[in-house]
Amino acid sequence: MLVDIRPAREGDPLAFLGSVDLRGLRLWGEAPFSAPVNVDGSVYVRHGQVEIDYTVGYTRSGHCARCMAETAQSGSLRFNHPVKEIADETGFEDIIPAPGGLLNMTELAGADLLLTFVSPLLCREDCRGLCCQCGVDLNYADCDCAGLPPMSPNKVKIIIKEVPANGGSKDENK
Ligand SMILES: [Zn+2]
Ligand SMILES: [Zn+2]
Repeated sequence: MLVDIRPAREGDPLAFLGSVDLRGLRLWGEAPFSAPVNVDGSVYVRHGQVEIDYTVGYTRSGHCARCMAETAQSGSLRFNHPVKEIADETGFEDIIPAPGGLLNMTELAGADLLLTFVSPLLCREDCRGLCCQCGVDLNYADCDCAGLPPMSPNKVKIIIKEVPANGGSKDENK
């Protein structure tokens, strides 16, 4: 989706409304935006600087990072950026380039969403996840492993260290 920022004038904002296809975006190994993402905003000029202000309505779906259940979260986020019309793709720091006056809303909304969703998807904030011993989903059931200490990364390292470097098999074959 391209937004032509050229007609925007001081005191005369330019409204736009549409949807962008972000199915190609990858986040934590998944494609979180399988449905079209709605964008609704305006381009305006303030003190000579062109700015874009928009709201993105999204549904983020995928698998919970703790319990692996399929989950989806909907919401809306608002973003604001200075924009500058440029002749080519040359970028400016903190200013969104609009080559030839055309702002690529698909790229902008995709970049804003990726920067917002830096943490993995969870089915809920307090998801208890899967038991690391028996794999039961602790959101729905308790298991008998509760008394055992969970396998920590440090413990795994220690076990690996205890295995002889040559595997011990060479000596047996002698
Ligand atoms: Zn979960
Ligand atoms: Zn268990």
